[in-house]
Amino acid sequence: MSQTQNVEESQETSPEIQEHGNLLEVKDLTKFFPITGGVLSKVIGWVHAVDHVSFEVPRGKTIGVVGESGCGKTTLGRTILRLVEPTSGTIIFDNKDVSTIPQRHFRKYRKRMQIVFQDPYASLNPRMVVRNILTEPLRVHKTIPKGKINPYVLAIMREVGLDKEHLNRFPHEFSGGQRQRVCIARALVLNPDLLVLDEPTASVDVSVQARVLNLFKRIQKRRNLTYMFISHDLSVVTHMADIILVMYLGKILEVGSKKIFTMEKSKVHPYTSALGVAVPIPDPSLERNVILLKGDVPSPANPPPGCVFHTRCPEARAICSEKVPELEQKESGHSIACHFR
Ligand code: SF4
Repeated sequence: MSQTQNVEESQETSPEIQEHGNLLEVKDLTKFFPITGGVLSKVIGWVHAVDHVSFEVPRGKTIGVVGESGCGKTTLGRTILRLVEPTSGTIIFDNKDVSTIPQRHFRKYRKRMQIVFQDPYASLNPRMVVRNILTEPLRVHKTIPKGKINPYVLAIMREVGLDKEHLNRFPHEFSGGQRQRVCIARALVLNPDLLVLDEPTASVDVSVQARVLNLFKRIQKRRNLTYMFISHDLSVVTHMADIILVMYLGKILEVGSKKIFTMEKSKVHPYTSALGVAVPIPDPSLERNVILLKGDVPSPANPPPGCVFHTRCPEARAICSEKVPELEQKESGHSIACHFR
């Protein structure tokens, strides 16, 4: 059974998720980057950044994508927005296959799919004041009449917790948390349907993180936005997401609704356990079977045969290095790729 079938099945059985219809459907998506070498720069191999990934995101919901650095989660987000072109597979956005349409036609979909990057300082033009950062996309896409741009921008500034006085400041004049609010405002000006949030709190102080996460939640509720929330931190993902997708070396190892990951006795994938199962347990006297991971993620240019996690899995047996485990539905709303789960 394919990954696509299993992920679809795992979501089919969750009525609270299904009633909204899907805004985004990703089918068998791959992104391989060529490795070149020799004097003629010939292709000598491929980096398997995203490897046959399938999932669906209902409108107004959040899919959390979690995994260590190098697992392909950021490339997945960028490939869906076609900031990098997919190698193969299908991206269906609002019932339209947008995976192969020319970039000039994709523009009208791109404005409905925005991204908030991890490093707000690097993603803002240091020579532009906030007013220009926010009005530039409106001028390019001509979505708001000229005379209405200023009050519109001011309303969005207020929505993200900034004021009129911030409009004439440069990015370096803000704190990290305020800069991320500017990035959120920039993502909102085109009134998108989908926001890809790529580690959006990784570069802000811990004290600011909770406020930024709550801001995302408020904005989602008010605007009925759909989020793809990318993070290495399972506890943050569990706080934010309705569906959680665990990635390792470009592949989905586990997918399920949030409640699977927060239930005390859930049998999760060994890699998910290793990510900490960091979701707080209400009773501190209860212990959770947390596995400590050894070593680094293997090179995605040369992924291990069989189960890609077998080189680090404390439960690995002989079959694990020989046979690829399929992503199989284990229970309603929950699929795992492991021979022994
Ligand atoms: Fe570990 Fe084997 Fe399961 Fe892979 S298939 S997660 S190596 S037990």
